[in-house]
Amino acid sequence: MPTCQKCKSQEAIYAAQIINEEPIFSLPGSHIKAFPVGEVCDDCRIEIKEDHANGLPHPLTAEEMFNLPDWWKDNRGGWENPKVDIRNYRPSICFIWEVSEKSYHRWKSDGGLCQEYQNRFYIA
Ligand SMILES: [Zn+2]
Repeated sequence: MPTCQKCKSQEAIYAAQIINEEPIFSLPGSHIKAFPVGEVCDDCRIEIKEDHANGLPHPLTAEEMFNLPDWWKDNRGGWENPKVDIRNYRPSICFIWEVSEKSYHRWKSDGGLCQEYQNRFYIA
């Protein structure tokens, strides 16, 4: 059985597609052939639907990036897991996404660059 591409732990049950910016889930074989397809488990299907209903994940605009604390000016901005000197980053070459708390914790445990700020969650 295929493994879920999102949590990479549970068995994938659904074919997941983004069609007209809406996440669509179907059983494998009955998905729409013309669109790219991923495979996810039931927990991740629910999480994706909830995130979508909350407008997440969404990529930050340049203005939103500037409003995060100490973004590239120095290294005290609350970014966790920096693997490089993030003072050298510029918003134009690094995308930041606002995500759900659950996605943030998964990203964080995977060693991804992330920060929590004012009860909102960001990954880069
Ligand atoms: Zn999953």
